[in-house]
Amino acid sequence: MAPIAVTPPVEQETSSRLTAQGIERSLAKTAHSNASPLTTKLTHDSLTHPKTDSGVHTLLPQLDASLLQTTFTTSPRPVPALDSSERASQKICTDHMIQAKWSENSGWSAPTLQPYGPLSLMPTASCLHYATECFEGMKLYRGYDGKLRLFRPELNCNRMEKSATRIALPTFPTEELLKLINKLCATDGPKWLPRDEPGSFLYIRPTMIASDAALGVQKPKEALLFIILTCFPSMDDRKGGMKLLASKDDMCRAWPGGFGYAKVGANYGPSLVAQGEAKAQGFDQILWLFGQDCIVTEAGASNFFVVWRTREGQLQLVTTGLKERIVLDGITRRSVLELARERLTMGGCAGEELEELEVVERNFTMKEVEDAVDEGRMVEAFVTGTAFFVAPASLLHFRGQDFEIPMATEHGGRYMSIIKGWLKSIMWGMEGMEQHHWGHVVGED
Ligand SMILES: *Cc1c(COP(=O)(O)O)cnc(C)c1O
Repeated sequence: MAPIAVTPPVEQETSSRLTAQGIERSLAKTAHSNASPLTTKLTHDSLTHPKTDSGVHTLLPQLDASLLQTTFTTSPRPVPALDSSERASQKICTDHMIQAKWSENSGWSAPTLQPYGPLSLMPTASCLHYATECFEGMKLYRGYDGKLRLFRPELNCNRMEKSATRIALPTFPTEELLKLINKLCATDGPKWLPRDEPGSFLYIRPTMIASDAALGVQKPKEALLFIILTCFPSMDDRKGGMKLLASKDDMCRAWPGGFGYAKVGANYGPSLVAQGEAKAQGFDQILWLFGQDCIVTEAGASNFFVVWRTREGQLQLVTTGLKERIVLDGITRRSVLELARERLTMGGCAGEELEELEVVERNFTMKEVEDAVDEGRMVEAFVTGTAFFVAPASLLHFRGQDFEIPMATEHGGRYMSIIKGWLKSIMWGMEGMEQHHWGHVVGED
């Protein structure tokens, strides 16, 4: 690595926390370069002639959405019909994509908006061998009020940086990533999400890969950030609940000191064998357990919630905590917790004919789930995530036994339904709703 002139002092006695230390160092770099007037007033000249000879990283160009270079497609693609099999295939992307390249020596290049198409990578590219890849999953919603919206996109951008630093990919000013996402949505949104199809959405996949053409096992020196928009089927309006198969003793999705909290590709590939087995046995997803106590962590790539009554009679909404970093800090998860705390706990519940509940983030075990079901204290269970949105679970299978979860209606429990309704109104600008600050309106070009 080039010498760094402005490295902040790093604690010396931190040999026991090498990963945390490395991540802090990367983040400190962005903080410094953001604060530097040199990086905020970059001209195109400074991009083509980066001042790298001194090795001072603050002189390197930062990711800067205002430098975007645009090439529109000359062969626009047809938009598949809403209920078509093409849309369900998740293979169809919109007309354009955004790319930005980074290298250790010259920083971030000017981003490009260009026709959607294949990437060119050397067979030695780091991401193809060492899982130096991270991504985000978000949606662009066509509202019932005609507007295009993102949902809390700044949280995705922040999480993307967190994931990138976990696998030694470069940092970036997160607001610049948001501007780029916004730009791609403004460009392709109007055609791909027509105003007369309210309630439709596109899936947004910001991705970063290490593109170094060198086989050495080392910290990447080159990276590529890209953003694509994909057609996606709606996965939350199915009838009946999800059937979840608890993971077996021979597998584990995430562990303390690992990277389960980061949205890095390395978390997903190895889980697909189990996912395939679960499907083959008639289940929808794996319910990932951790450790000898069988702590319930997540379901597939979604966070997991239960509503149960304690033996003392207290109604609780419970999900696994983030402290051990074995679950992903889902934005839907966070939003469910925040809405529940605001509207369903003491003092909330105004106008709703629902009992108040207590919102709890803590590790809980399969034994507690079993007991709650056996003693008739389980009220509902559901999963949350951008892909499945909010979906009920109706059955958990654990060590040869089925545990039936109550479902108040064929669409799920009452608490789940009401929270889902609130989220939907925010995402899709439903009638009679005020613009909520979580809904980020995308201006259309
Ligand atoms: C993406 C993801 C989630 C859901 O996160 P959202 O931000 O709500 O979409 C949950 N768990 C895992 C493992 C994930 O990858």
